[in-house]
Amino acid sequence: MDKDFLKYINVLYVEDESDVRELTSNILSKFLNNIVQAQDGKEGLELFQKYNNTPNSEFKIDLIITDINMPKMNGLEMIREIHNFDYSIPAVITTAHSDADFLKEAIQLRVRGYVTKPLKINDLIDTISIAAEPKYLKDQLEVLNKQLSLEVEEKTLELRSILDSQENMILVFNEYNVSSANKTFLEFFELETIEDFIANNKSINSYFIEEEEYFYTKENDWISEIMKLDDMKRVVRIKNASNEDKIFRVDIKTFFYETKHYVVSFTDITELKEYTYELQYRATHDSLTKLYNRQKLNEELSKEILRENRYQHNLSILMFDIDNFKNINDTYGHDVGDVVLIDLSNILKNSIRATDYAARWGGEEFMVLLPETSIDETTRIADQLREKIETYQPENINLPITISIGIAEFIPNENTKDDFIKNVDIALYQAKRTGKNKVVKYEKQ
Ligand code: GH3
Ligand code: MG
Ligand code: MG
Repeated sequence: MDKDFLKYINVLYVEDESDVRELTSNILSKFLNNIVQAQDGKEGLELFQKYNNTPNSEFKIDLIITDINMPKMNGLEMIREIHNFDYSIPAVITTAHSDADFLKEAIQLRVRGYVTKPLKINDLIDTISIAAEPKYLKDQLEVLNKQLSLEVEEKTLELRSILDSQENMILVFNEYNVSSANKTFLEFFELETIEDFIANNKSINSYFIEEEEYFYTKENDWISEIMKLDDMKRVVRIKNASNEDKIFRVDIKTFFYETKHYVVSFTDITELKEYTYELQYRATHDSLTKLYNRQKLNEELSKEILRENRYQHNLSILMFDIDNFKNINDTYGHDVGDVVLIDLSNILKNSIRATDYAARWGGEEFMVLLPETSIDETTRIADQLREKIETYQPENINLPITISIGIAEFIPNENTKDDFIKNVDIALYQAKRTGKNKVVKYEKQ
């Protein structure tokens, strides 16, 4: 090691011969940061305490150079006293002695070096640097360590604030165990710290709701299970302690640090889901009557026909049209006509079974799909519906409100969907043509 580091070193130099002390100090001061002079052991001890044992002193003494024989307190006594405060301070002695007793004592005091008098400045510098180096390096290391831990602390804070600023719930897992979580997670679970979550010893997936549409498992290794799924299917529904439930998309990143770690991010898609349901509803329902729309009924009809062709159960349809509806509109206005449409739709909903599909087929035309239903059963249902509507009479309307119904039975592997619809339409037309307010069954010509 070169001796440059000496310029950071502060030395206490104790020597009773003032000529020697002044001269040596003068030369040493060119190499050192500070040199504090004392004329005997007693003064040396006082100065040491002033610098090293007083808070906020301007600097601390790193090394002692001392003569042995001095009035009041000799050099070795002083070192002993100083070591009572700080055992780590290295000491170098300057001496004309070389007797064994003194050397033995010096060794016991762990004196780090000695220079014989008359002093040769090079010897002294070499001895100082050898003696001061370990403490200097140790001090430097401490400074570095302190810096490093400050930097680590700063980086940790930085990362934490990044995590906490995320709207997503973010959890870090070490294997199956949660090791940290961000603020959004703690807020949703109404926790102060992640330790509270860990303490209740429940895996996060025990808060998942078991529902067909969402990922669910009781197993501990739920992360590897969900990772087997398509991105689109990595969706969970979670209920917190206050019974508030939300829908989350789950994203997972893996990293290895001694063991396998996962960063799991839960993005709240509850609103998006609700919006999707809303869109789905609007795409399949009629906005005025809240019945299914024509497109949805068409889709269901296609599915039922496929099943029918295969299993040959019963399948019927029923189509009806309001009689002389134009009169109601013309007499009472379009708005009253709308109310009649809504009322009739509600009567219809209450007249069919949960397995039937009722749709608004057109303006004032309706279609009902009746799976697993024979034509006789359908006739009965149609008659009841026609009667119910015949007895329905709003106070503000003085015109009769009736419907004409056509019904048809599907013939598997003979009828196409279009045939089926055409047949029921023919039956309805027949009902209209032969006097209205009646049910007509389609008969093959
Ligand atoms: P028919 O017995 O032969 O069925 O006679 P109709 O008067 O019911 O038949 P038409 O086809 O002549 O008239 C149907 C009327 O239904 C015409 C149209 O204005 C009305 N309509 C269709 N959609 C709506 C609607 O959404 N609201 C209202 N208020 N009226 C509608
Ligand atoms: Mg019509
Ligand atoms: Mg009509």
